[in-house]
Amino acid sequence: MSNLKKGDIPRFTGKKKKYYQSLIQSRDIVLGQMQFHRDEALDCSNSDKKGVTTHMADMGSDNSRHEMELHLLTEEGNVLELIEDALQRLDSEDFGKCQDCGEEISEARMEVKPYANYCIKCTTVREKNGGINPNLE
Ligand SMILES: [Zn+2]
Repeated sequence: MSNLKKGDIPRFTGKKKKYYQSLIQSRDIVLGQMQFHRDEALDCSNSDKKGVTTHMADMGSDNSRHEMELHLLTEEGNVLELIEDALQRLDSEDFGKCQDCGEEISEARMEVKPYANYCIKCTTVREKNGGINPNLE
């Protein structure tokens, strides 16, 4: 967990400051989305349809919506972890470097995804191999 708070802009300058701000912003967005999906997921599981005859088909779609919300929550939780992790690394030499090959991650990529862990090349390799990088073996 990061102990950096919003509005707390520490010693970062230049690019790091930009990434820091962008990370804090991304974190706010993800937290907002998680809150939203959590509410939605709770709403789905609530028996607020009391008195309404529920057809099997409706129940089915309700369940899959519930599952989708939970799935999104998990995804967002993962992104949140990446963001927290990136905030921790921002201070170190590792920030902005691919954790697989050690190459610097392109600025364009960092701007879109300041919490990126891998360069495009390694991300592609991982995606093709179910999340692992066989080149590391
Ligand atoms: Zn790489």
